[in-house]
Amino acid sequence: MSATLPAWIAKAVILVSVVVMIAIRAPHGSRSRSIKVARSHKTRLETVLLVLAWIGFFVPLIWIVSPAFSFAEYPLRSVPLVAGVTCLAIGLWLFYRSHADLGTNWSLTLELRQEHRLITHGVYRTIRHPMYSALLLYSIGQALVIPNWVAGFSNVTAFAVLFMLRVRAEEKMMAEQFGDEYAAYSARTKRLVPGVW
Ligand code: SAH
Repeated sequence: MSATLPAWIAKAVILVSVVVMIAIRAPHGSRSRSIKVARSHKTRLETVLLVLAWIGFFVPLIWIVSPAFSFAEYPLRSVPLVAGVTCLAIGLWLFYRSHADLGTNWSLTLELRQEHRLITHGVYRTIRHPMYSALLLYSIGQALVIPNWVAGFSNVTAFAVLFMLRVRAEEKMMAEQFGDEYAAYSARTKRLVPGVW
């Protein structure tokens, strides 16, 4: 059994990872938003999923600053902490690369921008959803680092629901827009894990 560590270490790790994530997204987000949306596929379900994602994002921050979830606390151990930091680091790197490769074709929801291009290079070469792979790694990292059943699993739960209820609609939207080009791209790539699924 690995050593027990003070919870402030986990809080510091989570705070840094959240700041890094915001720092990666902010410039790409504002650049993308400067390009007009040509077609929106935002449904009511998408709105619900986005609210869920925001809740998943904020619960760990509430855990950092308040005792609201103290009933679900357990001891922090070094092995899950190190494993979690590794997942967070790889997740944030992939998040950065997918934003860089997607450029201004990014949207928070299901939208196509003016002169939307299908990106198939960089981290999009082997998988169709590297940003979702990044968010999965990031949320697994949070679950491992945060020694609290509620705050630890909030992001991974919200992400799993969002991914399962969104991915087909997103691929359908891309297939309608890019036709054969997207069909060929889908045929030679996987969804989340290179070579596996
Ligand atoms: N699912 C992708 C992108 C997430 S952002 C990933 O995980 O990396 C969601 C938006 O990205 C979608 O609304 C769509 O407009 C855009 N998008 C998704 N895949 C794309 C691709 N291969 N090329 C260009 N835009 C893409």
